[in-house]
Amino acid sequence: MSVAVPPALEGLRLRLRADVPLATRTTLRIGGPARLLAEVDDVAALAGVLRWAARGGTPLLMLGKGSNLLVADEGWDGIAVVLAGKLLAVAVEGETLRAGGGASLAALSAAARDAGLSGLEGLSGIPSTFGGAVRINAGSYGSEVFDHLVEATLVTRGGKVRTVPAGAIAHGYRWTALVESGEVVAAGSLSLARRPREEIVARLAEVREKRRMALPVEPNAGSIFKNPPGDFAGRLLEACGLKGTREGGAEVSPRHANVIVNAGGATAADVRRLMARMQAAVRERFGISLEPEIVVLPARAPGAGPPRPGSSGTTGAGSGP
Ligand SMILES: Cc1cc2nc3c(=O)[nH]c(=O)nc-3n(C[C@H](O)[C@H](O)[C@H](O)COP(=O)(O)OP(=O)(O)OC[C@H]3O[C@@H](n4cnc5c(N)ncnc54)[C@H](O)[C@@H]3O)c2cc1C
Repeated sequence: MSVAVPPALEGLRLRLRADVPLATRTTLRIGGPARLLAEVDDVAALAGVLRWAARGGTPLLMLGKGSNLLVADEGWDGIAVVLAGKLLAVAVEGETLRAGGGASLAALSAAARDAGLSGLEGLSGIPSTFGGAVRINAGSYGSEVFDHLVEATLVTRGGKVRTVPAGAIAHGYRWTALVESGEVVAAGSLSLARRPREEIVARLAEVREKRRMALPVEPNAGSIFKNPPGDFAGRLLEACGLKGTREGGAEVSPRHANVIVNAGGATAADVRRLMARMQAAVRERFGISLEPEIVVLPARAPGAGPPRPGSSGTTGAGSGP
């Protein structure tokens, strides 16, 4: 349902809707509706919405492809923001690839392939937006986003825009400082290397096949837990005999012990219960605490009632999902 744009957002390139189902916007196919959802078409609209949400104390969820996200069954009692329009653009200049934060990694790797640029093949099958991948320094098959990132345009939760070199963003394994700061990745550029196109195409096919063999076909969110230092979460979980374990409609994939699948009708509560069982089993057997890789949204957004377009009050800036 479309809603009237509040005066503070008038003139910005965006669309605002109320009570928007989120389950279909996540790869787990779980979760209730967002109270509001804004699709923003450029950096000015993104900054405007972030500023407006912060001033009104409205909980804000940046939503990419929903491939690393568990939305609560009650939904998101705030505003979900989706990058659209110019923030989906992908362009190649020489050996540099520039992209909006909402562009998919599939679009980036296809543009790189067509331009004869190598570097994104390992990341090509991750069902992510560019912005979501920068935030967590996504990686697979020996490469990660920060191997190639040159700079990123970031927007703070208060709506300030800055472009910074990649080296200015602290990062590590499946983590960057953006996780804590809550800054939004509006765009960025990557440095790639010129290689023969056939070589790139062959590597893309190899990665696609490896992923097809490794991952379940049912709805899932990829790896549920990060690998602990020097080990693999999947190995530990498998050793605990957890493959096939169920809580309601959520199941530890019989194919990959670090993946939870929605085997049919799973709720967010089912997934949370199953995650807790998995963590307890690994803690008991190996004394290791597994840390979630997926973002688990709280059943109610922290400390807030429903957002009221145009309302003012305390700031909602700071870290967030
Ligand atoms: C089948 C499958 C396979 C996967 N394989 C891999 C893999 O090999 N390697 C890997 O690293 N991950 C993998 N993942 C996990 C997931 O794809 C990544 O974590 C991905 O980067 C999440 O991006 P997203 O756009 O879907 O973000 P979402 O899931 O929509 O959001 C995740 C978090 O990122 C935040 N976010 C979203 N967009 C932005 C933005 N523009 N700026 C700042 N924050 C933002 C959200 O607020 C949220 O906190 C896999 C997932 C699936 C379902």
